[in-house]
Amino acid sequence: MTSEELKQFKAAISITSVAQMLGVEVSRGRCRCFYPQRHVHGDRTPSVSISEERGTFRCWVCEDVRGDVISLVQIVKNCGFAEALSWLQEQFPFLQAAPSGRRAPSAVAIPEMPPIPEPEEKPLVSEDDRKKIILSFLKRLSPVDDTPAAKWLARRRIYKPVWDRMLLRVITNYEEVNNSLKADFGEEVLKYVGLFNDKGHLRYYKHPLIFPYLDTQRRAFYFQSRALDSTVVPKELNLRGTVPFPYNMVALDQKPGWVYLCEGAVDTLTFLNQKIEAVGIPGVRNFKMEWLPLFKNKSVVLCLDKDDAGRSGTEYIRGVLEQAGIRSVVLGEGLENIKGVMKEGQDINDWFGGKK
Ligand SMILES: [Zn+2]
Repeated sequence: MTSEELKQFKAAISITSVAQMLGVEVSRGRCRCFYPQRHVHGDRTPSVSISEERGTFRCWVCEDVRGDVISLVQIVKNCGFAEALSWLQEQFPFLQAAPSGRRAPSAVAIPEMPPIPEPEEKPLVSEDDRKKIILSFLKRLSPVDDTPAAKWLARRRIYKPVWDRMLLRVITNYEEVNNSLKADFGEEVLKYVGLFNDKGHLRYYKHPLIFPYLDTQRRAFYFQSRALDSTVVPKELNLRGTVPFPYNMVALDQKPGWVYLCEGAVDTLTFLNQKIEAVGIPGVRNFKMEWLPLFKNKSVVLCLDKDDAGRSGTEYIRGVLEQAGIRSVVLGEGLENIKGVMKEGQDINDWFGGKK
């Protein structure tokens, strides 16, 4: 396995699922330390946080309890790197690097959605309440019409029918949203659900455009936010926690047909504006195997950015889809009806004539 393959292998695995496979109780991105004896009260309140987004974990007390999914296996199984890696490979056989040359889709079973773990201790906020708080936040926001976000979207050739269909929202009065949330739920709860930062303020001061991830009932418990000012880094902020499903998951309706898979909400919206069914992943490294069942009966056109990260992501996702028996093609390869090809460095929005 090359270091690039190792990186992709790790990125494809949900660290939370691995922790659960190892018998570790994970609740809301936290688990108990593996060395409770080092903690006062034996770590009754879980000290290890797990970042699904980064694929890492870290104990806030023990200096040496931190690392990636492989270090997690090493610590829990008390083994070396090689053994940890081969254990992971056994658990995820369909993630092996795809052999060169075509071959029939293997009989690998598509994994079921992982079970939602039963928290052992009562968390600060129940999962139901967390969802209610996210909904309540989204309800305080305005439609994008007649705001700077509307101009920003129009420059990218994304227009009102799509804003409405995808319930795009914008924070027009940051202070008001910040203060009313704080009054209703309190700082501690808002930090816990990931809406507030450690300083006790709503996180999206510089990222006012909100892309809710709608489920089949058009409710959203997850969203991404976008800066409108091009000097802001990073351009996008994800809500903390696991990305539950791709953006615009309603396109994955289990009916036979094609779906375009691209990077991020803006590219997805660009496709929708062209009346092309598309789904978005928040980054090339964010395609989760747990999503494979959602792609049942679909054939996939891969449309990641035309750059090195996009290409390596394409190669990787193509392998995962192929091994799960899902047909895929890369945009521009074998699609003679589409004129022109994407230029180096372009994304889907550039390609359709969007202006930055
Ligand atoms: Zn510890």
